[in-house]
Amino acid sequence: MTAPLIDPFQRAISYLRVSVTDRCDFRCVYCMSENMTFLPKKELLTLEELDRMCSTFVHMGVEKLRITGGEPLVRKGIMTFFDAMTRHLETGDLKELTLTTNGSQLERFADDLYAAGVRRVNVSLDTLDEQKFADITRWGRLPQVIKGIDAAQKAGLRIKINTVALKGFNEDELFTLVEWCKSRDMDLTFIEVMPMGDIGNEDRLGQYWKLSDLRAQLAENYTLTDLPERTGGPARYVRLEETGQKIGFITPLTHNFCESCNRVRLTCTGELYMCLGQEDMADLRAPLRNNPANDAPLEAEIRNAISRKPKGHDFDYSRQSVDGRVSRHMSHTGG
Ligand code: SAM
Ligand code: SF4
Repeated sequence: MTAPLIDPFQRAISYLRVSVTDRCDFRCVYCMSENMTFLPKKELLTLEELDRMCSTFVHMGVEKLRITGGEPLVRKGIMTFFDAMTRHLETGDLKELTLTTNGSQLERFADDLYAAGVRRVNVSLDTLDEQKFADITRWGRLPQVIKGIDAAQKAGLRIKINTVALKGFNEDELFTLVEWCKSRDMDLTFIEVMPMGDIGNEDRLGQYWKLSDLRAQLAENYTLTDLPERTGGPARYVRLEETGQKIGFITPLTHNFCESCNRVRLTCTGELYMCLGQEDMADLRAPLRNNPANDAPLEAEIRNAISRKPKGHDFDYSRQSVDGRVSRHMSHTGG
């Protein structure tokens, strides 16, 4: 092991989120436009390069890897990569290997993911209504995702549902979603919609359902107790006393928890973003490809990038306009 990665604000970087593809089999309205243009395949890190990149981060103190995208499970051969990461779990250098998925391919991959050492999976799901699901994802089908969740639970994977809070879309399903997660023993986290990427004609401010409002609605039916649990990200948790459920809130807009941020994000082309909400990044693909047998230049570039990690993001809807917007899509940086 080398010296740990510490940024200028004394935050230890122990969590890497990796987007393994920008492609997806859905076209969620808040994430992509319907006719998205994807990157040429040659731009992407190969599976071997992803292995080398992630292994270097693990060597430098990263203990948690979250694989995301785009839809990570549509990347061809992706299980080879998961299987390769198992060795870091076995040595104990990596404490957790997880993924965020839309669930469409989970039925096929659940057992293999468990065998590779994955124990927890985040599944994104915004509605339990089949027609609304088809509308919001444009290309997705709810029954396929439910089958994926069934298979994942059967394989022994713990599921957390991530729901983007969307005004006028799933406000009426707040309690249905909470009760459904309770009935299936799944955690649930709500996410505020963020101003990422060009999504065509969709209206960001119109979509924005403040989680402080959502929380107040929840408190009409349940007793909420704040939990001290912190994961180094923007999520905060409450317990619903009546059911014992844990509910998370990811509120990058109404609150800003950047002071304890422990994470950085690697795109599928090898760019390292030190903050989801800022444009600064470091190209790690060049030092990786230019030095096939020597990791030192890559390590130096990673340290250099971490030394530039900003204090926080600038997303702001408070002036009734979308400020702090970043141009790249969530599917590129990895949500
Ligand atoms: N395709 C996978 C999925 O949907 O879970 C992984 C990638 S997706 C970009 C990761 C998460 O980002 C999903 O939970 C999705 O709902 C969320 N997301 C996408 N665009 C967003 C936006 N503009 N604001 C907030 N969350 C967003
Ligand atoms: Fe695909 Fe996930 Fe974006 Fe939906 S949120 S379009 S599933 S990458």
